[in-house]
Amino acid sequence: VTTSYIIPALRDPHQHLREDLELQHTVEAAELWCDTILGMPNTREPLTTLDRAKQYYLGQVRAYTTHLTVMPCLYLTEDTTHEQLKEAADHGINSVKIYPRGKTSHSQHGIRNYTLIYPQLDVMQSLRMTAHFHGEHPESDPWTGERDFYTQIFPAINQAFPRLRMVLEHISTKEAVETVLKGPGFRVATITPQHLLFTIGDLLQDLDSALHCRPALKETPDQRALQSAAISGDPRIMLGSDSAPWKLHKKRPTTARAVIPCGCWTAKYLPIYLATIFEQLGALDKLSTFAHHNATQWWSLRPTSRCLSLVREPTTIPHLTEGDYIPLCAGATLPWSVERHYT
Ligand SMILES: [Zn+2]
Repeated sequence: VTTSYIIPALRDPHQHLREDLELQHTVEAAELWCDTILGMPNTREPLTTLDRAKQYYLGQVRAYTTHLTVMPCLYLTEDTTHEQLKEAADHGINSVKIYPRGKTSHSQHGIRNYTLIYPQLDVMQSLRMTAHFHGEHPESDPWTGERDFYTQIFPAINQAFPRLRMVLEHISTKEAVETVLKGPGFRVATITPQHLLFTIGDLLQDLDSALHCRPALKETPDQRALQSAAISGDPRIMLGSDSAPWKLHKKRPTTARAVIPCGCWTAKYLPIYLATIFEQLGALDKLSTFAHHNATQWWSLRPTSRCLSLVREPTTIPHLTEGDYIPLCAGATLPWSVERHYT
């Protein structure tokens, strides 16, 4: 039985750092276990211009980081211009996020009609920028949203932009797994800890609104497809935690008919969730490929000397973390602990 396991610091190309007071909590949590993350641009006023993005990543975010690299990302709207994309790329912002309008937090400036952004995708393809897709159909309900995106929207984009670098984010269905594994090496997908650990059945059984996320948790065959992909070692499948800090009273409101925000707070205990599921799947040796090496290779990141040791001693996840945020698996005892070794 493995009792301790050393892995390099995590690299997570999908975290929500938010703003103001929350930024301090999210950056601190990210820095515990990651040396590089990509910070999402869906702030209250989304990062739709170079100026806004610079102010956020070089100002607000940098003020809180000590040894965390935060890769920047621009928020695409139907009105983003060729010049704005070129200007962003010239300033080292090579990632562009594409939200389906109205389907998740602060996505009201996202895309309704994907054919309207073909000119932008064309520019991104020629500048070798990366398109980060939240792959849900903007007109579908939460249950069919992802399948509808991959059957009704993605095939045309795939055909029209054969060289576009893409990150298909937080995939949740076996159809999305098949899509990425059929595609070329410059199209990758990310998977969250909650989609590996839970199904819609878990959410329904406990009626636990804390597990509400977008794309929604799916059924066991989908979860199994995500798990197999995660432990396959395939370079196209990597961690993207989608960690988002939500307070307990928002995720488990006591008032009737409250709107539950989507997302799970996973940054604080991220390696513990991953070790737990990778051990269950008998694949601890594939954890660093999924959570470090694949992102390193795809983004051509420098190697790191920072590492984590995972120790097989139980951790009880608290009901709340500092700031009243509710972590994934709140109150549960998971079989792993983690320590970091940063020089
Ligand atoms: Zn997200």
